[in-house]
Amino acid sequence: MTDLLIRDAIVVTVNRDHQILTNGTIRVEDGVIRSVEPTEAADRNASADYVIDAEGKVVLPGLVDAHRHTDFTLVQGLFSELGGEELLKEALSLYQTAETRLGESFFEAAWDLACLRQLTHGVTTVNAMDFTPALGAEAIGDAGLRAVIGPELADFLNSDPPEAQLAAARDFIETYHGAYDGRVWASIAPGGEAGCSRRLWEGVAELRAEYPDLRLHTHLYDSPAADTMAAGSGASDPLALLDQLDLLDDRTLLTHFLHADRSDAQRVADAGAHVLHCPTVYSYFQAGKRAWFPLPALQEFGVNIAIGLDDPFWFDSWDLLQEARHARLLSNYEYGAQQWSSYDLLRMLTIDAARALGMDDQLGSLEPDKRADLLIVDVDTARHRPFSNLPSLLTNTVTAGDIETVVVDGEVLMEEHEVLSMDVDRVQDDATRERDRLQTETGWETSLTGSSPPESSLLRRVAGRPLLRAAKQYGRGVVSEHLG
Ligand SMILES: [Zn+2]
Repeated sequence: MTDLLIRDAIVVTVNRDHQILTNGTIRVEDGVIRSVEPTEAADRNASADYVIDAEGKVVLPGLVDAHRHTDFTLVQGLFSELGGEELLKEALSLYQTAETRLGESFFEAAWDLACLRQLTHGVTTVNAMDFTPALGAEAIGDAGLRAVIGPELADFLNSDPPEAQLAAARDFIETYHGAYDGRVWASIAPGGEAGCSRRLWEGVAELRAEYPDLRLHTHLYDSPAADTMAAGSGASDPLALLDQLDLLDDRTLLTHFLHADRSDAQRVADAGAHVLHCPTVYSYFQAGKRAWFPLPALQEFGVNIAIGLDDPFWFDSWDLLQEARHARLLSNYEYGAQQWSSYDLLRMLTIDAARALGMDDQLGSLEPDKRADLLIVDVDTARHRPFSNLPSLLTNTVTAGDIETVVVDGEVLMEEHEVLSMDVDRVQDDATRERDRLQTETGWETSLTGSSPPESSLLRRVAGRPLLRAAKQYGRGVVSEHLG
């Protein structure tokens, strides 16, 4: 018996042949895609538990956000007008307040709101790195979504000793890896060369040896001081540090890679590791000398690249399609036109990201025997018709607001913009309540006209702009070391 049948759709399969069906039917049973074929007359009378007539609309594989943090989702809107150095100073102070005075309900509401944002933006799978992973696993699981979640290990940011952090990570893996019918996976997620001591890295290597199937997810080369930080851990540079500890292989995901060069790209390619690119956060909060990742070398050596939003609550966008657009624009600006084709961008948001996560046998394309994670995008509108070159339309014109239906594991989680798997009112009420507590505790204020920092903030005490100059005068440059 067919559980879900979608017919008369334009199906962008993202399969090996880059096949696009102009009028296709997808059959789903037990959460698995059974067939993707041209629509036949009989399909219009076929019986199924759930039938969706998608005439004139596009069906895509679900989008995969390859790198995200979630704990601080409720700060959205507070930092939108800050520069990078101001942001980091304010963020560090706010994090301390949240941890000491706001407690679990703040982070629960943050994860629920993140799930709602993720679902309504068509992101069916997220690769997250957070300090509250168990709350995340339960929020993702309950919302019907899919995630790989790593407890962020960072003894320079978190005061718990390395052994305690590693023990908590082991507990998380044992409890949540494979939970919710396999929709939640665990990863091992050291923060990066900027956040971890040698002692912690050695513990990470032991944990990885215990769980060799898990992804190692980290930040690397996100600061010009990356080599100096690696030297503090006894290695000549960050890649050498990973290599020394047997952590650099085809199960390794390296986020940012901005201050790396051609030879670093070659080493990543030789190891078969993957690079996760988050263009918006580093351009929005650009501080100091501009650096971009060595895309031409990564492409020449065949490194797999995927795209992530990183900290969407800092720059107020959860739109992964727009993130791919930024990736193209910024790389073309840096290296010249044609760095990526439109189809390359679609692949990075789907099958290439699934490959980075080790899930490409289950996700990332619309093919028989894969899990049914898919989106219906409404392009049958005055805003879009007539169109040609569908990959370009999807990566240059369409936004997440055009995504009307979201399916994960064969379950319809959102249909024609109506969220079915979450109690939207409750999520919004909880977020509003916790956001009010955040503002009361920190002194940040928001209104429809913008946001303003607390009286105690340096941003308030120094009169007038430019704030960045004031920040430098007060010696805050040090916080720019670790942005994403
Ligand atoms: Zn990050």
